[in-house]
Amino acid sequence: MNPHHTSTNQILRLFELDRKHLWHPYTQMKDYEKRDPLFVKRAEGIYLYDIHGRKYFDTISSWWCILHGHNHPRIKQAICDQLNSLEQIHFAGTTHEGAIRLAGCLAEITPPELTRVFFSDDGSTACEVAIKMSLQYWKQSGAPQRELFVSLEHGYHGDTIGAMSLGGVPAFKGPFDCLTFSSPRIPAPYCYRCPASMHAGNCDFQCLEPLEHLLEKEGERIAGIILEPMMMGAGGMIMYPAGYLRRLSDICRGHHMHIIFDEVATGFGRTGKMFALEHAGVTPDFLCISKGLTAGVLPLAATLTTEQIYSAFYADYTEGRTFFHGHTFTANPLGCAAALASLRVFREEGVMEALPARVKTLQEGKDRFAELENVGDARGIGMVAAFELVKDKAGKTPFDPAERVGWKIYLKGLEQGLILRPLGDVIYLLLPLCTTKDEIELILEKTYGVLDNFFKQP
Ligand SMILES: *Cc1c(COP(=O)(O)O)cnc(C)c1O
Repeated sequence: MNPHHTSTNQILRLFELDRKHLWHPYTQMKDYEKRDPLFVKRAEGIYLYDIHGRKYFDTISSWWCILHGHNHPRIKQAICDQLNSLEQIHFAGTTHEGAIRLAGCLAEITPPELTRVFFSDDGSTACEVAIKMSLQYWKQSGAPQRELFVSLEHGYHGDTIGAMSLGGVPAFKGPFDCLTFSSPRIPAPYCYRCPASMHAGNCDFQCLEPLEHLLEKEGERIAGIILEPMMMGAGGMIMYPAGYLRRLSDICRGHHMHIIFDEVATGFGRTGKMFALEHAGVTPDFLCISKGLTAGVLPLAATLTTEQIYSAFYADYTEGRTFFHGHTFTANPLGCAAALASLRVFREEGVMEALPARVKTLQEGKDRFAELENVGDARGIGMVAAFELVKDKAGKTPFDPAERVGWKIYLKGLEQGLILRPLGDVIYLLLPLCTTKDEIELILEKTYGVLDNFFKQP
């Protein structure tokens, strides 16, 4: 018997059990009443294989995680080796080699001011750690009135209650508004729909004026600001110029508040640089990373900060300055081993060196999508390209959400072996760093075909 083969009966039984017991994230389960979810059996490189043996391009890197392809031999080997010595240990009062080495590597590849690494297990917790550290810092540094965090419209920092409070995607928050804390929100640098009615590439970042006004009035009460540098992911793959970050940083520095960069999605090469902050040369007080940290193989996250923040917590125990926060799987040794192996792959397989040519192929290739009838904006950075679909290009009129255009295109994409999981009416490609020029061209051609056909014969 072939151990990789699943019989038709087994498949039916498994789907039945899925319907009976599972509740999938970000999913209206009724959509799957008569349609099976994509049953992924195995993955290799940039390909997913479903239970029927059909092949798909992993065009969203398995929710923005995978970097060097699935089933990478060196990462797999590192996890196996680690499994033979230590698989899990609590991290309070104990330490282990993987965490020590990984912290050293992370300090090395991030700006020199970021010297301290606090591990947790996912992107939401990495952000929550940053806001709690910032808040506690001010409480014990003579500015206890600094209690507010500024965030951006369309921003996304995770689904736990703290991270959600800082999110600016209304659809994700509706029923939970009563639980979230209030956060002064500023407009996003959403160039296609500029909040200051300027033209992209021809402005003076007028969209930052609300931040300046806010800080003039309330600066003393602001602990920090959190944002996704260069690319706002879940809010619709909104990319913006590096100059915005530099200006924002200057404004915030003038008010002595903390800057928190959420690089959970943008970290580890996704935008063409190791970290998106490198595009602007701005160093935050906190840097949150997760998704690509382990090359997307295991859950692990980290919040990096400066010696200045750290030292405000360093004191005799009785002074009560300890940071009382931690997660059960903090610095899990298997995750650390995967992350270290991923960083070795970066160094030894020339990942960043190969990237510019790939980025060029994707970014040049995405431009022609703007010719399509219903593509209002074709935008991109690094290994990400996004297409904002509109009903009418001249008026930038969105489709009626009830039409579920994104969802319908997703289903068409599956037929062509593409995972075009939409964000509202934004269809995007977020490709593994290892995707070759030929593969990128093929993916672009297939994606173009799906969109073209869809709007020709709705
Ligand atoms: C995915 C994401 C998060 C949340 O990460 P989880 O691991 O899902 O908790 C936070 N911030 C950004 C920018 C993300 O893309």
